[in-house]
Formats: sequence, C-alpha cells, structure tokens
Amino acid sequence: MTQHSVKTYEHWIGGKFTPGQGDRFGDVFNPALGTPQSRVNLATASDVDAAVAAAQSAFETWGSTSVSARVRIMFTFRELLVQHEGELAELISQENGKMIGDARGEVMRGREVVEFACGIPQLLKGEFSDQISAGVDSHTFRQPLGVVAGITPFNFPIMVPLWMHPVAIACGNTFILKPSERVPGASDMVARLYAEAGLPDGVFNVVHGDKVAVDAILEHPDIAAVSFVGSTPIAKYVHEGATKAGKRVQALGGAKNHAVVMPDADLDYAADHLVAAGYGSAGQRCMAISAVIAVGPVADELIVKVKERTLALRIGAGNDPGADMGPLVTAAARDRVLDYVAQGEAAGADLVVDGREHTVEGHESGFFVGPTLFDNTTTDMSVYTDEIFGPVLTVLRVPTLETAISLINANPYGNGTAVFTSSGEVARTFQRNVHVGMIGINVPVPVPMAFHSFGGWKDSLFGDHHMHGPEGVRFYTQAKVVTTRWPHVSGESLAQLNFPTAH
Ligand code: NAD
Repeated sequence: MTQHSVKTYEHWIGGKFTPGQGDRFGDVFNPALGTPQSRVNLATASDVDAAVAAAQSAFETWGSTSVSARVRIMFTFRELLVQHEGELAELISQENGKMIGDARGEVMRGREVVEFACGIPQLLKGEFSDQISAGVDSHTFRQPLGVVAGITPFNFPIMVPLWMHPVAIACGNTFILKPSERVPGASDMVARLYAEAGLPDGVFNVVHGDKVAVDAILEHPDIAAVSFVGSTPIAKYVHEGATKAGKRVQALGGAKNHAVVMPDADLDYAADHLVAAGYGSAGQRCMAISAVIAVGPVADELIVKVKERTLALRIGAGNDPGADMGPLVTAAARDRVLDYVAQGEAAGADLVVDGREHTVEGHESGFFVGPTLFDNTTTDMSVYTDEIFGPVLTVLRVPTLETAISLINANPYGNGTAVFTSSGEVARTFQRNVHVGMIGINVPVPVPMAFHSFGGWKDSLFGDHHMHGPEGVRFYTQAKVVTTRWPHVSGESLAQLNFPTAH
C-alpha cells in the first residue's frame, strides 16, 4: 500500500469528518494478518478544543430539547444499529481480531443500553412531596451536566462506548468520545448512524488519539465529567487527573477474575464454561476468567476435562466460520502473553497446554497465541498476580470455600467472579462474602444487563458510580431540590429569623 492509498480515519466534530490539526498518525492493524490496514489521525489539544466548542454550542439547544424528542432519536438510532449489525461486527472483527459472532454479541449487548436509554423519560421522572409544611411543597428533578467525555479501550470497540453515550445523550448532555486508537472504525460508523437518526450536529463527537488527546480532555475546563474504561494504571491516572480538574469521574480498570469450582459442581458444565470464559475473545475481556480455584479433591478431574476442551479449540481469523478463537490485538500484546507463559513455566507452574507455537495457515504473521493452561499456580507467580489479558487459564488448588474466598479477597482487583456449585448455601456464602462487584452463580461471565449497572470494586473501579443502568443516569445528571410556597394559600407571611421548621 502506498501512503496515499491508505484509509485515514479523521475526527467527527460538529457533525462532519474533520482532518486533525496535527501530523501524528497511528497504524490500525488487521491482527489476523499482522499488517496495517488503515491509519488514524492522533488528535492534538486543538482538535479536542474544537470538539468541546462544537459540543458546548450543541448543548445550548440539546440540553433544552424535550425528553420525548431526544428519545425519538434514540429509537431510530437503535433501529439503525439493528440494520447495520453485520457490517459493524465485520469491521470490529477486522480491527480487533475477535470472531465475527463474538463481535455481533458485543453489538447486541451495547444496543441494549440504547434500549435502556429509550426509557429515559421514566428514569428522569423526579419526586414530589406534597405539603411538607403548611402551604409548602417540595420537588426534586435532575438536569444534564453539559459536555461530557468518554475514553474507551480496544477490546470492545462498540459495546464499551455504548455503555456511556446513549445514557449521557438521552439525559441531555453532549458527548465527546475518545475511542482506542487501535480500533477507530466502529466509532466512526456510530457517528454516521447517529447523524442518520437525526441527532443534531455537535451532540456526539469523536476525537481519535492517544495520551495527548486524553490529557487535553482531563485538563479541559469545559468538560464536566469523564467516563473511562481501560487498564488500572490509566484508570487511576484518569481518575486523579480529572478529579483534580474538578470533574465528575468514573474510571473502570483492569481485572483478575476468579472462578471457584466446588466439589459438588457439575464438572462437565464447569469445564465447558471455564474454557468459553477463559479463551473467548482470546482472553481479552475484562470479565474473562483467568484464575480457576479448584476446591478440595476436584482439581485432578477438572484439569482433565478443561485440557480436553482446550485442545479441541480451533484458532483462526475472525472471519473463519470454523474457528473459535482469534488473534491478540497487536504484536506487542502477543509478545507480552508469550513472555508471561515463559515466566509461569520458569516459576514452576505446570504447563498443561502450551499455546506458544501456534501458527494459522495463511496467517503466519498474525498475532496468534494458542490457548494455554497452567496447573498448580501459586499466588506469588506473575501469571497469577498480573492481568495477562490473553488466552491463559491458571488453576490454583485450595482446600476449602473459605480459603478460596480469602484468596479472592486478597487480590487487588474486584471486577467479576463466579462459583460453580449445586449448593444454595455455598452460593449464598460466596455472594455475601466475596469483595467483588459482579458475581456469577454457575455463570462465569456475569456482565449485568443494561438496566442494571456495570462496575467492579477495588482496583477495578475508581469513582463511586458504576456504568449504565440507574447509576449511569445518576452519573450523567445532577439533582435540584425545589421548595415552593404560594403565600395566598395560607394567607400568612410566616417569616421568622429562627431556622425554618415545618408547621
Ligand atoms: P489502556 O488502558 O491501554 O487504554 C484505554 C484508553 O486509555 C485508550 O483510549 C488509550 O488511548 C488511553 N491510554 C492508553 N495509555 C494512556 C496513557 N499513558 N495516558 C493517557 N491515556 C492512555 O487499555 P486497553 O489496552 O485499550 O484495554 C485493555 C484494558 O482495559 C484491560 O486492562 C481490561 O481489563 C480493561 N477493561 C476494563 C473493563 C471494565 O469494565 N473494567 C472493560 C474493558 C476493558
């Protein structure tokens, strides 16, 4: 490809594609082929300024547009997401590497947040208290914040942004999305679909970029709130930077998700689900299971079953209908995973399945790592302590449920966890005592539906609001409480210098 024939992603500002003001570009790879397929302009602080100006100007009317009119656009946008689901899934698969069926799943799960946002009139209804004092009433209502921003990771190019902008926009805010520079395509398509749905120019903007764009967002005085999803070090950085600048922040970080397998579990069911949850999306999910805790005598039989299923997985490009698992997102991500596997082996974990030498015919330069399984992992090994974010399952052996729960609670992350059991008592003890935000009982990837909220504990979330669902509505709005007296009702002034109390 010659330089001028390469597709270049531009920003979407004020309702149109806009070339960046700087001359830095990032390569967007096809991970299955291992070659660049397009490039993306990396924004300067001036590009962020231009997006904020467009969003501010749009807020003047969008913030006062009726909730019914806002919702009508959301309904149309939802229909367009249905119509373009296949196209979006293919685009995501090409840039991220995940299987097309998996990408379709994220389009659908993201669309559910739009469906939730279509019900915003019900969710924004305030509260009214009649006669709180003689002739006095009080009511509460919520208003949008203004211009808000979202910064998102590579692993869910459409779903994670959709956790944010439909709720923010339906609440009356205007939005600036800074998607991952590795997977820019889906955000551009979403911008076009919003425009087709009738969203006014400037309500939704996309600024592509890296740290420079993120820093400009964190520092910008006219951005009221920042939603972030990504790795823990950057989540911390975003939380600290944005709170220091006086913004409201929700920053979701990385994860190390444990699945506990009890001796009373159905081991075939557990093995099926552990393999799906560990290796789906090549382990590049914040809710992927990466640590399996085998309790009591269950480990030997469980390992045999997980190994059998791991060896049966087919690895291939995202558009290969016969494949189960695709490549890692970049060469650096692949090399990082390979390095962790070597570290685990050197530390003395038993390498039951080694995915390091995996090549895919016709895709020899693709960023593939085969599914890898370790047994007898201990909590001091880097394959356990670090978020690998690849297709690596590690098995730890513990004697009791209590030790399993203590082990999970000692881990700094608290995103998701699961227990496989046939005992209600075990399930109840587990869900009550584990220090984790999202819990599955025989459900290994317990991603909440759009009408609940998504978020972890500890180093998996900085800030106090989870995403979408009721917490999303609260995050993107601020409350007012109004106290009203109509003096002619009581006919008295009732003015007093004492602190007012109810009559
Ligand atoms: P990342 O932290 O590298 O990048 C996330 C965003 O931050 C991107 O938009 C990126 O451009 C920006 N960024 C990267 N480095 C930066 C820097 N130094 N300064 C400022 N901004 C920077 O994450 P990723 O590799 O894209 O995604 C994978 C990570 O995201 C994993 O840790 C995964 O667990 C996490 N994740 C978490 C959730 C969740 O809900 N908790 C969901 C999805 C992904």
